[in-house]
Amino acid sequence: MAPMSNHDQALDLPSNFIRSIIDKNLKENLYQDKRWAGSPGGASHQAQGNQDPAKIRTRFPPEPNGYLHIGHAKSIFLNFGLAHDYQGACHLRFDDTNPEKEDEEYVNSIIDNVQWLGFNWQFQKENNQYFASSYFDFMFEAAQSLIKSGDAYIDKQSADEIRENRGTLTEAGKNSPFRDQSIDENLKLFDEMRAGKHADGAMILRAKIDMASANINMRDPAIYRIKHAKHHRTGDAWCIYPMYTFAHPIEDALEGITHSICTLEFEDQRPFYDWLLEKLKSNGLLADPLPKQYEFARLNLTYVVLSKRRLIELVDKKYVAGWDDPRMPTLVGAKRRGYTPEGFKLFTDRIGVAKADSWIDYSILEDAMREVLNTSCDRRIAVLDPIKLIINNYPDDQDEDCYAPNHPQDEAKGKRVVKLTKELWIEREDFMIEPVKKYFRLFPGNQVRLRYGYVVTCTGYDVDEKGNVTTVYCDYLPETKSGTPGSESVKVKGNIHWLSCKYAVDAKTNLYDRLFKNEHPGSQSESYLDDLNENSLNTVNIKIEENLNAVKAGEQFQFERHGYFICDQTSSNQNIVFNRTVTLRDTWK
Ligand code: ATP
Ligand code: MG
Repeated sequence: MAPMSNHDQALDLPSNFIRSIIDKNLKENLYQDKRWAGSPGGASHQAQGNQDPAKIRTRFPPEPNGYLHIGHAKSIFLNFGLAHDYQGACHLRFDDTNPEKEDEEYVNSIIDNVQWLGFNWQFQKENNQYFASSYFDFMFEAAQSLIKSGDAYIDKQSADEIRENRGTLTEAGKNSPFRDQSIDENLKLFDEMRAGKHADGAMILRAKIDMASANINMRDPAIYRIKHAKHHRTGDAWCIYPMYTFAHPIEDALEGITHSICTLEFEDQRPFYDWLLEKLKSNGLLADPLPKQYEFARLNLTYVVLSKRRLIELVDKKYVAGWDDPRMPTLVGAKRRGYTPEGFKLFTDRIGVAKADSWIDYSILEDAMREVLNTSCDRRIAVLDPIKLIINNYPDDQDEDCYAPNHPQDEAKGKRVVKLTKELWIEREDFMIEPVKKYFRLFPGNQVRLRYGYVVTCTGYDVDEKGNVTTVYCDYLPETKSGTPGSESVKVKGNIHWLSCKYAVDAKTNLYDRLFKNEHPGSQSESYLDDLNENSLNTVNIKIEENLNAVKAGEQFQFERHGYFICDQTSSNQNIVFNRTVTLRDTWK
């Protein structure tokens, strides 16, 4: 294989092994005779169509049994991104073949998430949104055809017997006593299964492959089981449901998928994927070119759990406030946290697509968000831990306009007025009674610049009975206002932000810490839950500048020196709430 380069020269796109495969397939005209009738279907349906106008077809196939997480974002960018770049189509397919845990609520949230990331499933006039459950009829027929061709049988062994007879990695399995049952008997039993004549677990349909295969997945895998359960779309129409490993290749084939991209756990399933589609082709139900499966490394992020089962547990047991809690790695949580689609795009481009599993450091995701927000966000001032500063020699009832740029790297964004008055809020950490080494901010006798305002000299301070500083006193130097000719006359090393007590607005902010204390949650404890960080949320009362008095939910800003913040969805003009998306610098290293 060609060495991995960062960019594909011809297309100027990030290169990866999947792109190399697609390039090769297209060069070999592999899909030249591929027919597409405009909608999913088997060989006879597609034969009525013309050459597929989509150069390739990929799919994003979530099971609607939970909310999407950051790992899914990687798969979304990969699948939709490939389709976009190669003039192909990417289908949004709800893989809803398992009746029990699936729900319409999840379907809607998945649609929102994919659109939020900037994608849609329209290709020319086609709307490529599908439900795997629409293919139940075809899957049933496919299973019947395998029985007829002698490639599947009904097994009446118990689940325990099946497990015992499956063998081990070093030992071949044993053939089921039902393996050589007649085709007629198998067809009759399968019809009875479908008609609801048997209880859950009484029998299953298995593919007849090879009980001695070195690959355990090829030892007569189960393909249809009895499950008397109501399905979120098909209701009570079925009491038998296909197994995922049987359903998925068929879904891909019916939709004319060319590249079926999945995570590495499915590598051992690939021989069955190919076996099944080849059989259905020789039985006349499918035609070339058949879809091919390719595996890539799933995203593992440090300090995060990315498994729906665990995320459900965090919500159900109320360790977090809900699916969209900004500490959750769900896409709804990320959105509320202030993570952006552009940030996710940058992140997925940076981490690339690999063939071996690894852990990605959470700071890479945060860096990507920072980078995008740095460009897109206007600056504002907020004081997170306010103490008072009084300018002794400033007139009592004077208001003065100071001019703060909305974006330091983008003059076109202009400036805004921030009012200076005699009494100001400054950060508690910007004053020390006895300065430590290299502390350049306020302490008695020291000079700093009030950003966008004047140079001040600290003259004293008040403390409460506990010794906490309540007020700091300063004199200002009237000739030193920022933006005036005299501003450079006095040089200072410190520069602090402030807000007028008269004009600043009260608000609340949620400051987040990681949800887990361990890089690999659960790796050194019995359960990942033992690694939960009990201090992952700190809500504080803050002061924000007067220009934010009518801020709207979803608006994002950089609060100078503090990081990026988003106005929360619960915010109102009477009760303004911001969530911190990320600090300005990595505070984790
Ligand atoms: P989970 O393991 O969290 O339950 P899943 O794989 O069961 O996730 P699906 O809804 O089946 O979730 O996944 C839809 C698609 O997203 C699949 O193609 C899957 O490969 C991909 N995907 C899921 N998790 C990740 C991940 N961490 N990194 C990359 N892709 C992922
Ligand atoms: Mg899954």
